[in-house]
Amino acid sequence: MVYTSLQSPKDKEYSYELRIAHLYGDLMNTYGDNGNVLMLKYVAEKLGAKVQVDIVSLKDEFDQEFYDIVFFGGGQDYEQSIVSLDLPSKKENLQSFIENNGVVMGICGGFQLLGQYYIQASGRRIEGLGILGHYTLNQHNNRYIGDIKIHNEEFNETYYGFENHQGRTFLSSDEKPLGKVIYGNGNNQEDGTEGVHYKNVFGSYFHGPILSRNANLAYRLVSTALKNRYGTELPLASFDEILWRETPEEYGDVKSRADFKEQD
Ligand code: GLN
Repeated sequence: MVYTSLQSPKDKEYSYELRIAHLYGDLMNTYGDNGNVLMLKYVAEKLGAKVQVDIVSLKDEFDQEFYDIVFFGGGQDYEQSIVSLDLPSKKENLQSFIENNGVVMGICGGFQLLGQYYIQASGRRIEGLGILGHYTLNQHNNRYIGDIKIHNEEFNETYYGFENHQGRTFLSSDEKPLGKVIYGNGNNQEDGTEGVHYKNVFGSYFHGPILSRNANLAYRLVSTALKNRYGTELPLASFDEILWRETPEEYGDVKSRADFKEQD
């Protein structure tokens, strides 16, 4: 049964509404990935939206008209194999959501299952949703673990995270990466790609959680979802107005966004 796990305070006035489906949130929630949901809610509320987060899990119907954002977190191989069996029942609705420019963020196991298939550490193949073209192979007795930094050329944004995965993902020709690897392993340690970007679907191996560490990406997801629902002309507060903070004195010379120099 779909149940609401988080809601904005009832006694506050909001201009908009935003509904988030936390896909298999009771099974796919490794390494603090739930922090992404908290960050989406935080940014949406800053932008004046009242938020409802629903856990949409096994045997639940995904209502593609109702939701504005889908968040699909990471999970261990065991949980992924359970989820994999349920995916076909949600494929049609999720596909129509994605093709109609719905906003999706998939992390690690969730990112893998948006694609064609995933070969588990044991060598067993489990089927993904098959909506996106990427596929994920296994590696022998190894995981990619550590800090990672990537750059997205289209948005000219840099993202930071911590990866922890055994799967090696390869993108299809109609998929762009979320970014090019500056350091770290990324999708497969071979082609310099990390994550995926297809329409308004974003996938990544970043835990951390990615949206708390990269508020620019969180702003992109929430503002895109609000414009999908209320129209592209919607006047929204800018990222700098709601999310940029002056760096406190004790952090050194970086006083404002303009002074900020990237440090590795
Ligand atoms: N089980 C998958 C892998 O190891 C996904 C891991 C995750 O979601 N953190 O690649």
